[in-house]
Amino acid sequence: MSVIVISTGGTIASTKGSGGGASPELTGDDLVTNVPGLSDDIELTTYDFSNIPSPHFSVNQMHKLSELIADYDRDDTVDGIVITQGTDTLEEVAYFVDLCYDGDTPVVFTGAMRNPSLASPDGPANLLIAIRTATSDGARGRGVLVAFNDQVHAAKLVTKTHSMRLDTFRSPELGPLAVHDEETIRWRASVDSTPTIDIAPETLTNEVAALTVTVDMPPSQIPEPDDFESVVLATTGAGHIPTGIISPLEELAREDVPLVATTRCLEGRLATSTYNYRGSEQTLVGLGCYFSDRNLQKTRIATIVALAGRSLETMFDRP
Ligand code: ASP
Repeated sequence: MSVIVISTGGTIASTKGSGGGASPELTGDDLVTNVPGLSDDIELTTYDFSNIPSPHFSVNQMHKLSELIADYDRDDTVDGIVITQGTDTLEEVAYFVDLCYDGDTPVVFTGAMRNPSLASPDGPANLLIAIRTATSDGARGRGVLVAFNDQVHAAKLVTKTHSMRLDTFRSPELGPLAVHDEETIRWRASVDSTPTIDIAPETLTNEVAALTVTVDMPPSQIPEPDDFESVVLATTGAGHIPTGIISPLEELAREDVPLVATTRCLEGRLATSTYNYRGSEQTLVGLGCYFSDRNLQKTRIATIVALAGRSLETMFDRP
């Protein structure tokens, strides 16, 4: 079987420079050289896409990466596609690709929390399970995946939960889709497929604001209608906001700036008919908000992709 490993940078590719701090420098070939326990039946090739820390990813780079992945999917000699990247924004990049990808070839993202110069770096083991996942029959039809710390998650659900620990990637509520036992990927669950959106690249924009709603939030934190193409809000609880921000949100709604709401809670979704006080989910409904069931950073990615595909209605419910 043949797997292409696309390297983009991050801790997995970082080495310690003379200044003491680590930064991305290793190539894809460097990364695959020392993968332990890899079967001789798997042939690896590499593609160096970039060597950046993941917070440096741009919307255009995410789109280019998804086009590269689509090209490899069309290549019949490729059985699996693995992408290595920094963990900080891995959930956003993987989800962006998930929303654009309609191929059959398994696509698996991975990275590392400890760079190769530290004790027990996790990059080689993560790369190994990513390659095993990409060559596992069960990976087909499960959308873009994230393999990390002996677990395999759906790009749609996974989130980075800890700034330092190796078990940082989790899928709140559902848990992983598969676990890695010995040399086997054991599949346990699947998620509903993500709608694939056809993007008009010239309409891609990063001008989507993402705000966490907080108690007694100053209204000045809500942007003016001309500032952004859309505003995404992680509301408190099941869709609740302080009354002070209703008026600037009404102004955005009047000017047809799409508003997308989600919850700032780690688990759960927005209510639609539980409360009706001013600032409750009924206020969001009245503002014409789109409702998202993904976290704030993924909701922003979904909004960016939906705007570029002119398909906010496909992406989100609007109760
Ligand atoms: N700062 C790094 C990055 O996201 C962290 C990591 O790779 O884990 O590129």
